[in-house]
Amino acid sequence: MSKVIVSSLYDSDVFRMACRQFDLAADAISLPEAIRDRTKYPRRCLAVSLPVKRLDGSVTVFEGYRVQHNLSTGPSKGGIRFHQHVTLGEVAALAMWMSWKTSLVGLPYGGAKGGVIVNPNDLTESELEHLSRRYMQEMVNFVGPHIDVPAPDVGTNEKIMGWMMDTYSNHVGHVASAVVTGKPIALGGSQGRREATGAGVAYLTKRYLEDLRIPVSQATVAVQGFGNVGSETALALANYGAKIIAISDYTGGIHNPRGIDLGKALNYVRYQKTLRDFDGGDPISNEDLLELDCTVLAPCALERVIGDHNAPKLKCRILAEGANGPTTNAADKIIEARGDIEIIPDVLCNSGGVIVSYFEWLQNLSNFYWSRDEVLQKLFAMLDKAKESVDAQKSKFKFSRRLAALTLGIQRVADAKQSRGLFP
Ligand code: GLU
Repeated sequence: MSKVIVSSLYDSDVFRMACRQFDLAADAISLPEAIRDRTKYPRRCLAVSLPVKRLDGSVTVFEGYRVQHNLSTGPSKGGIRFHQHVTLGEVAALAMWMSWKTSLVGLPYGGAKGGVIVNPNDLTESELEHLSRRYMQEMVNFVGPHIDVPAPDVGTNEKIMGWMMDTYSNHVGHVASAVVTGKPIALGGSQGRREATGAGVAYLTKRYLEDLRIPVSQATVAVQGFGNVGSETALALANYGAKIIAISDYTGGIHNPRGIDLGKALNYVRYQKTLRDFDGGDPISNEDLLELDCTVLAPCALERVIGDHNAPKLKCRILAEGANGPTTNAADKIIEARGDIEIIPDVLCNSGGVIVSYFEWLQNLSNFYWSRDEVLQKLFAMLDKAKESVDAQKSKFKFSRRLAALTLGIQRVADAKQSRGLFP
C-alpha cells in the first residue's frame, strides 16, 4: 500500500485536471497502488525571486518556478513559460504532461516545466534579457545537460534560450550548449527546431485526415493562437493544401471563409505584435472561433479552452491539440460520448517540439550537426511510430485516443520507477 500526504502546493484547476487524467489512465491499466503516487506527483520544484532593474531605474521582483516531475528515465525536459497568469500548479501540470509526452514518443527524458509570472510584452528587450539571465542564474544548480534541459514555451523564444545558454556557460566556464534547446542556430540550435511543434501538429493532422479519407485540399482549418505553435501549424497545413479559415491571438481573431493570407498575417504581427485590427477577414472572438464549422480545429494557445460549455457546440471533425491541456476532463467525456470528433491528444499532437529538442541535444552532445531534411525526416518517422502505437493501444483496449496515449506514457514511467527501486 502507498499513502500519499500532499499539501495544497500545486492545487489548482489545471493541476487537478492533470491528476484526474492520470487517475483515469492508472485505473485503466490497473497500475499497482504502490507505484501510483510516486509516478503521479512531481519529484521536486524550485521557486525563485527575480529582481530586474527597469528602464526607469526602479527594481521589479518577478516570481519564477521550475518543476521537475520525473527524473527516473533521464534528464527532465520541458519548456519555460513567460506569462502573466503562470502559477506553480500550472507549471506542475505542464511538467506532468511532459513526462507522459517524452515517455510516449520514446525519448530518454523525464518531464519538467518552468514559468515566470510576467507579460513579456511589458518588458523592454534589455529588461527581458536581465530577467531571462537571472532566471537561469537561479537555476544553475538545478538544471544541466544531464539533469534538466529547458526549452521555449509560451512567451519565450530562441533569443531567450540563447541568453540562458550563455549565462549557464559562463557559470560553468565552458560552452555548454546542451543545457537548453530551442537556441539560435549560431549557438548550437537545430535546423527545424523553430517550426518543429507546428510541423508535427500539421503532419499528424494530415495523417489523420488520410485515415478519415478526407483530401487535405478539402480541409478547412481554424487555429486558436498565433504564436510559434499556432502560426507554424497554420503555415504547414496551408503548405499541404488545406484552407486556413480562422486564426486568433489573445486580442481576438480573424475569420475568412475564402482562406486567410498567412504571409500577410505574419508580416502584420511582426510589426504590430498582435492580430488586433488585421484586415484579412471579419473579426471573430476566440470563443466563436472554437465553435466554427471546420474540418480541423487546432487550439494552439493555453489550457482549458474547451470545456463543458462549448464541447457540445464544436463543429470540427478533428481536434488537433497543439496546446498542452486545451480540453478539460468534462469536455473529454462530452466529446467521447458524441463520437464524431477525432482528438489528436496534446501529448502526441504537439510532441514534435520536444522531439526536435532531443535532436538538438544529441547534436550538441556529439558536436555533429544535421541538415533540416534529416531533422524533419527523423521527426516524421518518430511521429509515425508514436501514432501507430497510440492507435494500436486505442483499438486493443477500446480506449479513447487520449487514454491510449496517456496509458502508454504513464506505463513506461511507472515501469522505469519500478525497476529502479524507491530512490528515483
Ligand atoms: N514547450 C514545449 C512542449 O510543451 C517543448 C519542450 C521541449 O522542447 O523541451 O512540449
